Amino acid sequence: MGEAQVSLQHLFRVFTKPEHKDSKLAQIEQHLSDNILDFLSQHVVTKKTSLEEIEQDFSDPKVPESPEFVSSHAETLLDKLVAHSVNTYSPTFIGHMTSALPYFHLPLAKLLVGLNQNLVKIETSKAFTPLERQVLGMMHNLIYDRPDSYYTEHLHSARHALGAFCSGGTVANITALWVARNKMLGPKPGFAGVARAGLPAAYRAYDVNNVGVMCSKRGHYSLSKSVDALGIGRDQLLALPCPEQTLRPEEALAAGKRYQEQGNKLLAIVGIGGTTETGHVDPLDELADVAKELGCWFHVDAAWGGATLFSKRYRHRLQGIERADSVTIDAHKQMYVPMGAGMALFKDAEDANTVRHHAQYILREGSKDLGATTLEGSRNGMAMMVYASLHIFGRRGYELLIDQSIEKARTFADMISRHPDFELVTSPRLSLLTYRVCPDSVQEALGKVDKHTREALNEKVDKLVVKVQKQQREAGKSFVSRTRLEAPDYPDQSITVFRVVLANPLTTHNDLAAILAEQHLLAKQTSDWQALVNQDSPLTEASRG
Ligand SMILES: *Cc1c(COP(=O)(O)O)cnc(C)c1O
Repeated sequence: MGEAQVSLQHLFRVFTKPEHKDSKLAQIEQHLSDNILDFLSQHVVTKKTSLEEIEQDFSDPKVPESPEFVSSHAETLLDKLVAHSVNTYSPTFIGHMTSALPYFHLPLAKLLVGLNQNLVKIETSKAFTPLERQVLGMMHNLIYDRPDSYYTEHLHSARHALGAFCSGGTVANITALWVARNKMLGPKPGFAGVARAGLPAAYRAYDVNNVGVMCSKRGHYSLSKSVDALGIGRDQLLALPCPEQTLRPEEALAAGKRYQEQGNKLLAIVGIGGTTETGHVDPLDELADVAKELGCWFHVDAAWGGATLFSKRYRHRLQGIERADSVTIDAHKQMYVPMGAGMALFKDAEDANTVRHHAQYILREGSKDLGATTLEGSRNGMAMMVYASLHIFGRRGYELLIDQSIEKARTFADMISRHPDFELVTSPRLSLLTYRVCPDSVQEALGKVDKHTREALNEKVDKLVVKVQKQQREAGKSFVSRTRLEAPDYPDQSITVFRVVLANPLTTHNDLAAILAEQHLLAKQTSDWQALVNQDSPLTEASRG
């Protein structure tokens, strides 16, 4: 079906741009474009097909022998892929950091692919390289606010980098810790530095048992990947307990000292500027003091929360971020840029030189090739999307978006608190909150019972929350995610909660009310709910079970 000729003539046509606006390729383009617009106006999930059924469509491991007509393949994609995609643009999709994009990114995406510039070296990205450097400069300025002369000197300098643009927060965190590692275990008399000699030699040269990174238990799993990839080892990620959701400076200091006394070197403290699970911000200013006292690098992972810096009203919540040696920000989270836009910013534009690489045919010494200090090689021009967004919204436009998200989260938190059968678990610091459905009578009982009974009751509520979350997702009208965490009210026990990230400016208060109403209805229809409320006293039932 739709099989095309195997001829160079046919393949040449595939490579050629449409000749006129009524040509076959132009029609296909219009058809795809109409279809995606149609898709984006639908529910979160349009077709209720099971994952297993979808897998059937993608199960043939053989490369097809013959070429297929583009038109015919486009239909396949619409049918098998687009129709079963999740509509992250829906105003009732409030479960993840991936959300709706402003429409202008669709035509810009075409420009990006159309130009296909490679940022690894200047020969394939003549104008994109300066643009990317400016974007890094703008984000650096937003965080560190150095004097103009600093940017005049470093922004386009071949010997400096204000940051590294990359595909996302994970690579940004790895990059930042890579720089920190190469700096801490750098060259000294008799030792060529970890970058050349490797970790075993570095540990011998510096006489250390281990090198570690500290963060709270809410640290993103990319930190665990980072210490693994950098050869430090996952066991050396010191993730401290955080019942209040944030890293306590005194505990960080004590743990750091203990670690150092055992013959180890502390590489970095990572403060989180908006945790992925609850949106809490570590006390960055105090943690900067701790890092200073311990003599280690201070990294702030603001992959999600960094965009709060655009808001004059709320940027103080990240106070202390300007003291970080490095900061991670994802433009594809609260900056409404398509995925593939992460950044690591460095306070000191010299620091990236610790990872600088040179090669013969590219990345020549003295060149402005961005690939010399980035972990990734070939990279597309995603910085253009950030550049365009920064201009199209401006700081004040972003400020409005950030402010309204935070205020909407507060409104939603109020709605949850007022509802007798819902329990707000972590109130929003930024635009992220967690809560759960739990019958009023059970909430009351939880406050009175002993630890054992409380834990047993919470386990029953967990089951209810999981069921409601799954059923709501399957119903396809709205999407709220779920996670497990130690809540302030229930220490020493993880509970299952709904997690909401408010990002889409088109999400209304009515949407939020409808999501709660749906969850309430779904909960009341479960046998779990009946079991929880029907027993004479949840206390006796729970203590029996
Ligand atoms: C999302 C996130 C990351 C990872 O970013 P990716 O772009 O998914 O690689 C890291 N840290 C935090 C705090 C995040 O929210």
